[in-house]
Amino acid sequence: SREDVQAFLKKNAFVLFTVGAVVVGIVLGFALRPYKMTYREVKYFSFPGELLMRMLQMLVLPLLISSLITGMAALDSKASGKMGMRAVIYYMTTTFIAVFIGIIIVLIIHPGKGSKDEFGKQQTIEQVSPADFKTKYGKRVVHMTVTVNDTLFNSTNDTQGIMEITREEVIPVPGQVNGVNALGLVVFSMCFGLIIGNMKEQGQLLRDFFDSLNEAIMRLVAIIMWYAPIGILFLIAGKIVEMEDLTQMGGQLGMYTITVIIGLMIHAILILPTLYFVITRQNPFIFIAGLLQALVTALGTSSSSATLPVTFKCLEENNRIDKRITRFVLPVGATINMDGTALYEALAAIFIAQVNNMEMNFGQIITISITATAASIGAAGIPQAGLVTMVIVLTSVGLPTDDITLIIAVDWFLDRLRTTTNVLGDSIGAGIVEFLSRHELRSRDVEMGNSVLEE
Ligand code: ASP
Repeated sequence: SREDVQAFLKKNAFVLFTVGAVVVGIVLGFALRPYKMTYREVKYFSFPGELLMRMLQMLVLPLLISSLITGMAALDSKASGKMGMRAVIYYMTTTFIAVFIGIIIVLIIHPGKGSKDEFGKQQTIEQVSPADFKTKYGKRVVHMTVTVNDTLFNSTNDTQGIMEITREEVIPVPGQVNGVNALGLVVFSMCFGLIIGNMKEQGQLLRDFFDSLNEAIMRLVAIIMWYAPIGILFLIAGKIVEMEDLTQMGGQLGMYTITVIIGLMIHAILILPTLYFVITRQNPFIFIAGLLQALVTALGTSSSSATLPVTFKCLEENNRIDKRITRFVLPVGATINMDGTALYEALAAIFIAQVNNMEMNFGQIITISITATAASIGAAGIPQAGLVTMVIVLTSVGLPTDDITLIIAVDWFLDRLRTTTNVLGDSIGAGIVEFLSRHELRSRDVEMGNSVLEE
């Protein structure tokens, strides 16, 4: 009835807003393409998107630290050991399944035809040399973005800003988020959290401190989420305006893109939900509906670490996952568990082999699956990190690393899809680990005298 519809709209206004932003972004992007904006104009146009990106990135490190520390401190070492084990088993299993799907799909569809003919490069956007750019336009844009840092402790210096505005792509450093070794930080925070968790009264001050820091950051996230739809709209529209012509998409690159999409869909829509259902006996699609906001943010930012704050919000508020689980599982997941990236790297490596007319034997395929897993663990949750760590996969089986350039043209797009898969994998992992750990959580509640799970 009409009231039902109204109630539905009211309840889901925010999600509809965000999904609407994607649609409007795509339409606006295509509508503006005929005007052939210059690179600089595109960058000015995408400015509201860049702002969102920076706001989210700014929160990532403090959020990662405070959530891991409080998450670990809230559990005794035996319980966290068990949960850690479950999380790691989940990460490894799903990553291997993802790699397997990637390999099977690319072998079946066989998008590479043994020639590099169709990969002609054409630039539709004005090329400006970095040096020219720096003197002409660099400063202005830098001054506009400098008010929002992308890290909390590191003020944006000129070179950073200019790097982003010149045609020289910013090459992500594998494993690093905002210039910080993310994995090292995860390990440190976990140890620190465990220690202060075991410190009895003496640790209370630190536990309270990080708890309250975590809460404060989540409140900042809640404010940023109101801005997110606008940011996402411009991030997507800007990318579509900027992308290269689709004329070359007819050939191998087009087939390749379709192959990747099919592989990611199988993993995200079939495998992960099935796994969730088999283990928890709950409807996976209701769970996924609660995540929509995070998935769209992943699509917009192509960074699973920038999406992390939103993932937290969705899981804790919409899906009611225990905070002791999310705080512990999500930061680790965002750093090492990347199903989409693993699938992509294996698939891409075999595609490049096909283009070079090289048949991969069974041993080489095994090598690819191992290195693709390693490369996905090593990749940071930042845009196009997977493209960089792919060098490991290619060199391990003697494929030419230069051929990464063949797939760069579509990577901005495929990166978004694999990032969305990565975020979905982390979130479903949180749901599964919570389900498997319900007994530990409950007995801890009884021990502490609280009633979190007793609803
Ligand atoms: N952009 C991806 C992520 O943030 C990593 C990748 O490039 O595959 O999850």
